[in-house]
Amino acid sequence: MKPSHDIFHAKGFGKVAPWVDLANSEEWDGFGKLTDHLANRLWLATLLKHWKLHSRLPKQVPRRELLRLRALLRRAAEKFAAGRSLSRAELSKLNRALKVPARQRLVENQNGFRAELVPLKRGWNWVIARIAASLGEMLQNRGAERIKTCANSGCRWVFYDTTKARTKCWCNDRTCGNRARVRRARSAHR
Ligand SMILES: [Zn+2]
Repeated sequence: MKPSHDIFHAKGFGKVAPWVDLANSEEWDGFGKLTDHLANRLWLATLLKHWKLHSRLPKQVPRRELLRLRALLRRAAEKFAAGRSLSRAELSKLNRALKVPARQRLVENQNGFRAELVPLKRGWNWVIARIAASLGEMLQNRGAERIKTCANSGCRWVFYDTTKARTKCWCNDRTCGNRARVRRARSAHR
């Protein structure tokens, strides 16, 4: 078996933002088969390490909170992909996830000064807040219109469309895109 961090990267996680990875942790293979990566401790540990959310996986995993956040992030992605926005209730849920006491600290390194947020307490609440904040940062940077979900209904992978005209429809042109082309060609043939 491949080490979990290889699977993490081979599957396309770790590219855009922590919130995208959590939304995609419920992975449909394009034919309707589901893999729940959130149930995999190694996947979760890799997520935390890759995004520097936590140095190692704490023993107790607040599965219910993570599932709740994932459902919210998935809904947000579907809405933005459809050109809509969050409801007031969804926004306040997101704000609840963000509500973790932290203080600011100024640090200096070779690139100059940088202000960073330091949590009063490290733990799952902070991890959840950081994941939610990664969506907040994307929205603040006018990223909402680039959030898409794969047009293959058996896939729905969340991705960030970096094409200039925002025309990307599939998570991957060779898999989902190709399947759609084959399907179109077949129905045209008939
Ligand atoms: Zn896809």
